[in-house]
Amino acid sequence: MEKKNDKDPLNAPEESKDSTARRDFIRDIIEDDLKTNKHQGRVHTRFPPEPNGYLHIGHAKSICLNFGIAAQYNGLCNLRFDDTNPSKEDVEYVESIMEDVHWLGFDWQERMFYASDYFEKLYDYAVQLIKVGKAYVCDLSPEETRQYRGSFTEPGKNSPYRNRSVEENLDLFTRMRAGEFPDGFRTLRAKIDMASPNINLRDPVIYRIMRAEHHRTGNKWLIYPMYDYAHPLSDAFEGITHSICTLEFEDHRPLYDWCLEQVPVPCHPQQIEFARLNLSYTVMSKRKLLQLVQEGHVRGWDDPRMPTIAGLRRRGYTHEAIQNFCEVIGVAKRDSMVDIALLEHCIRQDLNKHASRVMAVLRPLRVVIENYPEGEAEELEAINNPEDMSSGTRKVPFSRVLYIEQEDFREEPPPKFWRLAPGREVRLRYAYFIKCVGVVKDEKTGEIIELRCTYDPQTRGGDAPDGRKVKTTLHWVSANHAVPAEVRLYDHLLNKANPAEEENADFRTLLNPKSLEIIANCFVEPSLAKAQPGSRYQFERLGYFCVDPDSTKDKLIFNRTVTLRDEWAKIEKGGKGDTTKSSKRN
Ligand code: ATP
Ligand code: MG
Repeated sequence: MEKKNDKDPLNAPEESKDSTARRDFIRDIIEDDLKTNKHQGRVHTRFPPEPNGYLHIGHAKSICLNFGIAAQYNGLCNLRFDDTNPSKEDVEYVESIMEDVHWLGFDWQERMFYASDYFEKLYDYAVQLIKVGKAYVCDLSPEETRQYRGSFTEPGKNSPYRNRSVEENLDLFTRMRAGEFPDGFRTLRAKIDMASPNINLRDPVIYRIMRAEHHRTGNKWLIYPMYDYAHPLSDAFEGITHSICTLEFEDHRPLYDWCLEQVPVPCHPQQIEFARLNLSYTVMSKRKLLQLVQEGHVRGWDDPRMPTIAGLRRRGYTHEAIQNFCEVIGVAKRDSMVDIALLEHCIRQDLNKHASRVMAVLRPLRVVIENYPEGEAEELEAINNPEDMSSGTRKVPFSRVLYIEQEDFREEPPPKFWRLAPGREVRLRYAYFIKCVGVVKDEKTGEIIELRCTYDPQTRGGDAPDGRKVKTTLHWVSANHAVPAEVRLYDHLLNKANPAEEENADFRTLLNPKSLEIIANCFVEPSLAKAQPGSRYQFERLGYFCVDPDSTKDKLIFNRTVTLRDEWAKIEKGGKGDTTKSSKRN
């Protein structure tokens, strides 16, 4: 009994599972290459993270693209750690990246590589570049190098060391490797064109001296290749056909090609750039995410407020929802901002189909059913998932003392408040009609501490034989049977949709102080007593929740994955296309 909403173009994960139907400008290029047999009919991509942080949802876009393309065209996709900058890299990150790529549903089989595997080979190629007069050792300081480089409007100036002999260059480069010079004292530079309009071609540095322990090669190397040199060659060594990266590398493409043209390499991959994912109300740079972790603004890389894969997983996201999101946002050539409401929409779609419905009360208000016998209880039948009848039913205990949500009662109900109020009757989900006949308050504070109600035994299951109607159905739990729980509610990490628009503002000043609310004294229905970390539920009327790994058998802890209210569906319906609107629940 699946509900289908034909009007909602995003409500089509079944159709979109058919990967052969996917088209975008990158796939167009690949199909053309296949037609012309450009790479002998091969399609070989790679996902090349630098192990200097945990992966985020932007990386998921790149992973889905690279692995997705390989799967679609019967090709291969490598996982390659771009570990050429040892000062920021760590094995913890390597391990988390492997876990996250697998969790997302992709497999590199035996093709896991490290750029550091190629250090020796990259060095040999650099020696070859020197020998053919295409690289030289330069003694300019970093500051001087910058000055010589020129600007967008002015050409650069040749380094005074540019015309060193091949012999001298070979000698100095060997001594750079041997550790004869201090860090930063000399560099190896590609000899291209200091007057090039493309600054990246103005004799870029390709090797630097850096004494830093590498997480794999230890202290073996004192010189490290630069990304722009190591990357194209690593791609070529692995037989990559299409090297897909983000737009900021567009101006580096001529350098990518230059590197491959100077030395004999097994193949010449094509670099193709696409727009990186930006998501509203969050940050997406590893440097900033690391700052949040190190400065304690969040509890760690997997804090459920983080846009990391680990954070989203802990929050209750499924890999299906993330894959579907990556498909729906598509691949484009122009940078844009995606509304975080779209990501929330995708997880709602998935959980709506698969999450069991249960009842939980986050802010309990005690209700005593005066005409229900003391000490008695009965079991009512509840549907586990109306979207999936095969998931069956369960029993929910009902008794004289219950909890309902504090916000479901108003002593003086305002207009349009249809929930419980003095003298008013409402339905309790799967149970009975109840009517409020009294309100008990704390004598000192005036706070409402208990409601006195009666129930109508004729309405068992939720309908009155005399046909009388109620306006609202409330969720509830039985006080004696319910299990206490802690619930963690999350809101956007930032309180501004687009932090880049906030001039001169350090993004940390934009952190949402209400991004985490912990409610300690909640109650969940007894069927959840043994819920395992990672299991996901819909708390009726409240949202989707997931058991946190901090949970123990004595203390259940739930994360709210997402509320039930779908801002994205509203945006779509209204045709407003507002891509930055908040999806806050009020
Ligand atoms: P960050 O800017 O977050 O530090 P990065 O580009 O330095 O990211 P890498 O580890 O180099 O991180 O990224 C690995 C791959 O993921 C690269 O191919 C990169 O282009 C891609 N990638 C990184 N961020 C995004 C994003 N926001 N959207 C799409 N792809 C991304
Ligand atoms: Mg990078």
